[in-house]
Amino acid sequence: MRTVAVVGASLAGLSAARSLRGQGYDGRLVVIGDEPHRPYDRPPLSKEFLAGAVAEAELSLEADGEDLGAEWLLGARAVGLRTRERCVRLADDREVRADGVVIATGATARTLPGSAGLTGVHVVRTLDDARALRDDLARGGRLVVVGGGFVGAEVVSTARGMGLEVTFVVAGPAPLSGVLGRDMAAAVSPLHGDHGVRLLCGTGVRGVTGGPGDRSGAERGRVSAVLLDDGRRLPADIVVLGIGAVPCTGWLEGSGVALGDGVRCGADG
Ligand SMILES: Cc1cc2nc3c(=O)[nH]c(=O)nc-3n(C[C@H](O)[C@H](O)[C@H](O)COP(=O)(O)OP(=O)(O)OC[C@H]3O[C@@H](n4cnc5c(N)ncnc54)[C@H](O)[C@@H]3O)c2cc1C
Repeated sequence: MRTVAVVGASLAGLSAARSLRGQGYDGRLVVIGDEPHRPYDRPPLSKEFLAGAVAEAELSLEADGEDLGAEWLLGARAVGLRTRERCVRLADDREVRADGVVIATGATARTLPGSAGLTGVHVVRTLDDARALRDDLARGGRLVVVGGGFVGAEVVSTARGMGLEVTFVVAGPAPLSGVLGRDMAAAVSPLHGDHGVRLLCGTGVRGVTGGPGDRSGAERGRVSAVLLDDGRRLPADIVVLGIGAVPCTGWLEGSGVALGDGVRCGADG
């Protein structure tokens, strides 16, 4: 192989690039990422970074002075893969020809239909998402967090620690019941109440609604409430959706790569 293209410049992409070099691959290595950033660590985004206890520079996944001899194409979105020509097509019509392609495009945050364009509605997947949420939390106000997985629970704890009024809406019987199991989730969920979080379990969310926006532009205005399946309306100044992630496989459609809920692969990966 003379050229390997790694698509996705995050944890898996960087790890693949490191492994290739570690195993003696000395050909051309092109790392393609649609974010403008070099690889960074996502876990602190919903915790220490959000709280302001960790700076952006500390998120870097690359060691000081680490040089993999790669070409970094950042801010470059892959939009297609032609397997026969071994060619990755980018959104700006550039093409990267490679002998091997590593698919490391991860996942993107799931959103609620109708929430796009409403100021104050956030997801937490990228550094830019976390920056925007951190700025919004600094304004204070009523925060509603939707989704009882790790990201939702972490944002709840962080924001409450920053002094916000927090309501936590969870579809299941308790936060983290999907990942910890019912018993452990029941044991830890009272911690939220102990810290002054209003916890609403067993209800889904129908949508979010916003106030009147700037009618001249695309801006729909700021979110004003979360609408629950049971008909309740929760007033909100800020909403965080922690409702899971969707695999970034759109660029592989039509390529012949087998897709399901992600890239289909065998037990050996
Ligand atoms: C807020 C948050 C907190 C987390 N906390 C923890 C934790 O405490 N512990 C833990 O173990 N895990 C945690 N995780 C999960 C962990 O961050 C992920 O498992 C990890 O990021 C997965 O790495 P990845 O490289 O496979 O995918 P991703 O990190 O999703 O990276 C994929 C990259 O590919 C890019 N990309 C996507 N499509 C394209 C395209 N078409 N063209 C070019 N580039 C593209 C994306 O923009 C992204 O940069 C957390 C995640 C988040 C978001």
